[in-house]
Amino acid sequence: MAARPVTKRPPLNLIKDTERMNALIAFTARSLRTDTPRPFGASIVKTKTGKTLLQALNNVAQEFDPSAHAEVRAIRLATRRLKQLSLAGYTLYTTCEPCPMCMSAALWARLDRVVYGATIEDANRHFNQIQIPATEVAARSDMRCQVVGPFLRDDCYALFTHPDMQRAIRHSSTRKRK
Ligand SMILES: [Zn+2]
Repeated sequence: MAARPVTKRPPLNLIKDTERMNALIAFTARSLRTDTPRPFGASIVKTKTGKTLLQALNNVAQEFDPSAHAEVRAIRLATRRLKQLSLAGYTLYTTCEPCPMCMSAALWARLDRVVYGATIEDANRHFNQIQIPATEVAARSDMRCQVVGPFLRDDCYALFTHPDMQRAIRHSSTRKRK
């Protein structure tokens, strides 16, 4: 009996995650050419269809709001746009592993999944961070949310190490003091 042909195609989830994360990286990278470059971007996507609801950047300095991380902003914008409290049925993509504040917001919002690029450790080379992994925040929660990452880590981390980003970090008051 002939052996069953082995399917080499990657699973659909992986293809979709790659497409969506690449779109988010491109969106976030556009900020590098502006006066206010930011490596932190997030998007909210319909889990089943892959349709992007919205994208957001970190806006802490622009809004004078320490909580205006990209993920929190994306969640706030999404629930307001949908006029509903729950984001069940949606996935959050983010160029960097969510901090405990953002991961908590994702859980409170009932997001299906969180897919992140660079790690908290990566970001910590350039910015102060709170060292609690997103998976740990999720594991201690009553709400269920699948956390996937690091995913396309090198491409996401390249946003941090881009010369334009590095130049901005050198002039930033929020940079990590060595
Ligand atoms: Zn955060």
